[in-house]
Amino acid sequence: PSGIRDLLADVPKVEWDDIGGYEDIKQEIRKVVEWPLKYPEQFKKLGITPSKGILLYGPPGCSKTLLARALCTQCNLAFIAVKGPEIFSKYVGDSEKTVREIFKKARICAPSVLFFDEIDAIAPQRQGSTDVSDRVLIQLLTEIDGFESLKNVIIIAATNRPASIDKALLRPGRFDHLVFVDVPDREGRKAIFEVNLKKMKVNDDVKQGLQLLLDKTMGYTGAEICQICREAGLNALNRNIQNEFIEFQDFEMALSKVKSNITHEDRMQF
Ligand code: ATP
Repeated sequence: PSGIRDLLADVPKVEWDDIGGYEDIKQEIRKVVEWPLKYPEQFKKLGITPSKGILLYGPPGCSKTLLARALCTQCNLAFIAVKGPEIFSKYVGDSEKTVREIFKKARICAPSVLFFDEIDAIAPQRQGSTDVSDRVLIQLLTEIDGFESLKNVIIIAATNRPASIDKALLRPGRFDHLVFVDVPDREGRKAIFEVNLKKMKVNDDVKQGLQLLLDKTMGYTGAEICQICREAGLNALNRNIQNEFIEFQDFEMALSKVKSNITHEDRMQF
């Protein structure tokens, strides 16, 4: 019933090529999700259970959401996104109901990806049995344990704080596939700049100066590199509203404005 699917879920149009870099991770998550969908008989024959869940962890702005979306485009899966804090409503009891309903929706829309952004907000380390977040966590575990892996709902969760999620989530049969999505390396940054530059009208000196931009963006996230490109475009307009090309100087100026928010200490926690 594709009508229902369209109504309930978001069918994203992010292509793999819209994501600069992260080629290994793209391959890895494709395998985890595509193989069971394409070759379910092989899994049965060999007696192996596909992964139910993938946990993407790493600094903010490093393409986790984009990766989940591209996966859905590629495999034609409905995308149901839930932000951690959204689950907690003002009314006691409602949060657990929300969790149940989200899973129900995912089953109706199957094949689907149920994407929990900021899972650390939904499932922090347990505090004590009366806390509402403890009850939400238990509900979440019940839902995950309750369905069979082959029922075509894949759960993907993202977090910037992997150390603070409850360890019960990481047991086999739950989020048993962990993928670290770090800030991009030089090659990755180049690919992210290229994704952006492809859509922009830039002077030749920008291509010539690309190496310098790569030198100066060590430690920057994908989101921050996109921000630099946007800022460069605005700088060009600022110089002259009739400007037809964005120049290298616009990028240089953008660089001095957009600083990376990810510190060395932030990265060390992973
Ligand atoms: P958060 O943890 O804050 O939710 P995230 O890791 O999920 O962040 P995304 O939402 O995927 O990060 O990235 C934010 C935005 O940054 C994207 O919408 C996109 O515009 C840009 N971006 C991030 N990474 C890339 C990339 N590799 N290639 C192109 N654009 C990117």
